[in-house]
Amino acid sequence: MKFCSHCGNPVSQLVPPGDNRLRHVCGHCTTVHYQNPRIVAGCLPVWGEQVLLCRRAIEPRRGYWTLPAGFMENGETLEQAAARETAEEACARVRDLSLYTLFDLPHINQVYMLFRAELVDLDFAAGEESLDVRLFLESEIPWSELAFPTIGRTLECYFADRQQHVYPVRNEPLEALRAHYRNTSNFVG
Ligand code: ZN
Repeated sequence: MKFCSHCGNPVSQLVPPGDNRLRHVCGHCTTVHYQNPRIVAGCLPVWGEQVLLCRRAIEPRRGYWTLPAGFMENGETLEQAAARETAEEACARVRDLSLYTLFDLPHINQVYMLFRAELVDLDFAAGEESLDVRLFLESEIPWSELAFPTIGRTLECYFADRQQHVYPVRNEPLEALRAHYRNTSNFVG
């Protein structure tokens, strides 16, 4: 941040009184511009034995497969955000959402929260941000063409948990993502 979004004057980095972190502070109107992590909400839509993936039409990772997910908006719940992203990216409706994986990504200031969900029907299509949307059996998952390790790790957890039909909420450590990264050698992101 270089300029104040309130008054347009230059901002500088300093620790405000009573604070303990560097913040962007406007030298003119003294507004402190706090920057906090962003929440990415999304779904793992399930139809019988299959799961729905979207092929990204936008950067980063254009052309790679992902679960429908995106930044939460003000004024909506986490579950609404996950369902909305699924509608936008896959033109699909979901029900019975259950929080499933949670990833802290402090290196990029994001928190991922992904829900398991049932597809309501097979009426889905590529939304504006997708090149393609399709259902995959476990044996068909394009592991080396997944967009992000959070997506791969969520799918790994799902197929493992599905064998027991028990799906605990998984607050996955970064090490699990790194292990997934190592195991899918084509991953370059
Ligand atoms: Zn200002």
